[in-house]
Amino acid sequence: IKIKIVDIPVPITIGPAFEGETIRKKDAHVEFGGGRSTSFELVRMVDADQVEDGKIEVIGPEIDEMPEGSVFPLGVMVDVYGRKMQEDFEGVLERRIHYFINYGEGLWHVAQRNMMWVRIGKNAKELGFKIKDIGEILIAKFKSDYPAIIDRVQVTIITDKDVIEDKIKLAIEKYAARDARLKGLTDESVETYYSCTLCQSFAPNHVCIVSPERVGLCGAVSWLDAKASNEITPTGPNQPIEKGECTDEAKGSWKNLNEFLYTHSNRTVENVNFYTMMEDPMTSCGCFEAIMAILPLCNGVMLTTREHSGDTPCGMTFSALAGTCGGGVQTPGFMGIGRRYLCSSKFIPADGGLGRVVWLPKELKEYLGQDLVDAAVAAGLGADFVDKIADETVGITEEEILPFLEEKQHPALKMDPMM
Ligand code: SF4
Ligand code: ZN
Repeated sequence: IKIKIVDIPVPITIGPAFEGETIRKKDAHVEFGGGRSTSFELVRMVDADQVEDGKIEVIGPEIDEMPEGSVFPLGVMVDVYGRKMQEDFEGVLERRIHYFINYGEGLWHVAQRNMMWVRIGKNAKELGFKIKDIGEILIAKFKSDYPAIIDRVQVTIITDKDVIEDKIKLAIEKYAARDARLKGLTDESVETYYSCTLCQSFAPNHVCIVSPERVGLCGAVSWLDAKASNEITPTGPNQPIEKGECTDEAKGSWKNLNEFLYTHSNRTVENVNFYTMMEDPMTSCGCFEAIMAILPLCNGVMLTTREHSGDTPCGMTFSALAGTCGGGVQTPGFMGIGRRYLCSSKFIPADGGLGRVVWLPKELKEYLGQDLVDAAVAAGLGADFVDKIADETVGITEEEILPFLEEKQHPALKMDPMM
C-alpha cells in the first residue's frame, strides 16, 4: 500500500505507525459506541450543491464538554461529491474511515457501520485534539487517497444524543439498501470472485477470497465492495479472479482460485475449500468478526465474536481462539468469518450448513435477529431453529449444553459425525 504524506492541521501525529495502537479504557478520555452508546459512520454520495468542500460541523458537545472517562454517542457522516463517484463506492470509502482514524496517535477505532467503537486517548486530549479534528483527518485523507473519484467532501459529526437517534435512521436505511443489493447475487451467478490482500501488511501470507455469498472475514468487504474497489484502484488489493474449472463442487474448490491463492500467499496455501471448515479452510488474518470452532461432543460448531469476552464451550475465549487461527494459516476445525456469513446459504454447506450451529453468544443472536430466523427457514430448519441454539445463559461447556440440545432435538445431533 502506498502511503502519501499529507499535511493535516491537527495537534496529533498521523501515520500508519499508529494503526496497531490500542487505547485501554483507563487511558481513554472519552469513549463512543461499541454497545455503550449509539454510534454510526456513513459515507454518502451527494449532488454537487449539497456539499461544501472542506466543511466540518460538530452537532453536540465538543471534547472540552466531555468529562474524563465519559461515554458519548458518535455519528460520523461523510458527504462526497465527485463526477466519477458511484453509489457502489460508498461502502468501500466508508471502510477507509477505520484506517484513517486509527492513523491518529491517541485515536482508536474498531468495527464498522452502527457497531463502530471509538476512543480518544487522554494523550490526544492533552495535545488539544478536538472532535472537529476527526473531520480534518477524514477530509485530508479522502481527498489525498481518492482524487480520481472525490472532488468535494464535507464531514458532519454528531455527539448530541437526540440528534443522533434521528440521523442514524438514515444510515440504517443505507446499510439495508446495500445489503439488499447483494441479496439477489449467488456464488453460482457470477464467474468472478475477488481477492482481498489488504491485510497482508500484518499477515503477509493471508488472502481473503470474497464471493457474493461470503463476505470477507472482517465483515466489511462484500463482493460488491471488492468489485467497486477494483474499479477505483485497478491495481489495488481487490483483484478479480475468474473461478475457472471447479475441482470439487461440494467442498467448493476452483482451479484458478487456488492458483491465485498459491501465488499470492507466498506459496504457502495450495488449496482452499470454500464450503467447509474441516479440510483446507480459508485462512484468517486477525480481523475476523467471529471465529467458529468444532464441538466434537455436540457434533456441531460454535461461534464467538469479538464483542463476547466470556468463555465458550470449546474451552477458549475469543482472544485465545484468535491466537490459534490467525496469521494466515489454515487450521481445520477453526475458521474466522464475518458475522453475516452465518446467514448465507453457503455457510459451510459441506459440513451440514447452519444446522450444525449449536452455540452462539446471545449478543450475536440478537444482532442477526430476523435475518438468522429467515436463514434457518430458507435452510429448511424451521423458524424455531434459533431457539435450539444454546448460548452462554445455557452453558459454557459442551457438557452443560448437550442436555439442552438433546431436549430441543437439535438437528446437529442426528447429522453425520464431523470428524
Ligand atoms: Fe480484506 Fe480480508 Fe482484510 Fe477484510 S479481512 S480487509 S476482506 S483481507
Ligand atoms: Zn485482516
